[in-house]
Amino acid sequence: MTQIAIDAAFDSGNIEVLSIDGASARLAIPKDHNSEFKQWFHFRVAGKAGEEVTLKITGLNDSAYPGGWPGYDACVSEDREYWARAASSFDKDEEGGTLTIHYTPASNIAYFAYFAPYTMERHHDLVAEAAACEGVELTRIGETLDGQPLDMLQTGEGDKQVWLYARQHPGETQAEWWMEGALECLTDPADPVARSLLAKCRFHIVPNCNPDGSRRGHLRTNAAGTNLNREWAEPSAEASPEVLAIRNTMDETGVHFAMDVHGDEAIPAVFLAGFEGIPSWTDALGDEFYRYERILDRRTPDFQTELGYPKTPAGRANLAISTNQVAERFGACAMTLEMPYKDLAAFPEPEQGWSPERCKMLARDCLAALLEWLDQS
Ligand code: ZN
Repeated sequence: MTQIAIDAAFDSGNIEVLSIDGASARLAIPKDHNSEFKQWFHFRVAGKAGEEVTLKITGLNDSAYPGGWPGYDACVSEDREYWARAASSFDKDEEGGTLTIHYTPASNIAYFAYFAPYTMERHHDLVAEAAACEGVELTRIGETLDGQPLDMLQTGEGDKQVWLYARQHPGETQAEWWMEGALECLTDPADPVARSLLAKCRFHIVPNCNPDGSRRGHLRTNAAGTNLNREWAEPSAEASPEVLAIRNTMDETGVHFAMDVHGDEAIPAVFLAGFEGIPSWTDALGDEFYRYERILDRRTPDFQTELGYPKTPAGRANLAISTNQVAERFGACAMTLEMPYKDLAAFPEPEQGWSPERCKMLARDCLAALLEWLDQS
């Protein structure tokens, strides 16, 4: 039997090899730098075509979200374009919690990841391609601690200030696949939804809020080990320059509508979270959020409102979280969009599960819902 080889020393790679025995390996997930979070994995396995590999990712009971593993199948690709699922099972009693992945590659190589990766190289392709489109303006609004650019794209001639931003949590790659769908829509000169939105809105888009965590292969933090979505009350140049740059730019533009795009480890559904509990909550502003939620729910079967986070009680909102800060600071209709790592429990697609393709289609529905929301108000 062939001895497999495992590598992760590439853009967004992350795994520790404990041992390899023939076509089986014992693995562990390294923590994000300077933090306790671990959940993101991305590595390649070189083996032999047609020979099954068995991969055991151990020590998951103390991962960031142990509830993410039961009912989860690992993502796998042989060409790094099409991502399917490899049958996986979780045993909390094996070696501190072990996810066992079985897969038989058709070629001598296969890539495995927590979700279809979105590398920094692909990010640069996305930004450059969008910036080359008519009416799109690129601004480098900041620099990360690793010295990477923080990019914003702006487009549209309207007076509604719309902010779309993603990947504060870098391992939530769903969020940048969503961005790819949103940008394809907004830069298509033939798209009627885009043409109408661009007449009504000025879009401010940050496709990746956390380039350092993305390239380092982190789940949740930047190069300093900071969880950016707990920095919005008091961002600093030392710990969270990304949030500081984005919030300062928002202060210049103002915000009417904001969507912060994320992934959720445990919940097998797409859902929105609002800003209940902010000090200046009004039912009128809250109703604007619930109205958007209803429109999106009607537009796509991939969205639902039954599963999600509990609503925060009155006056208890954490203003360090982006959606709460943006709603409070600007009186904006702000929201957090969450997509799953697992498949949708209520609407599964077993071959791919929740996938890049579905993230991109959801983005189009979110934009169409925004247009309908604006037309009704
Ligand atoms: Zn998140």
